[in-house]
Amino acid sequence: MEHVHNGQCGLCSHFGENHSTAPALVTILKSHEAPLNMVDECGHPKHAALHLKVTPISGCDGFSPAASA
Ligand code: SF4
Repeated sequence: MEHVHNGQCGLCSHFGENHSTAPALVTILKSHEAPLNMVDECGHPKHAALHLKVTPISGCDGFSPAASA
């Protein structure tokens, strides 16, 4: 596990946006810890069409905090 900081994908509303209630994603929001080998799709409008995959500790200027982060 690795720590996920504010501003990183794991705490962003766009990380796995189309299945945001998945237990793995909810767990990251609660614990701020994520598995080392995890990747998920970014749903940001500028990235979604490209099917960008990011890790929980990736990030970009499109960050927007997830509701329960
Ligand atoms: S790439 Fe940017 S918009 Fe997408 S999940 Fe990460 S921080 Fe959010």
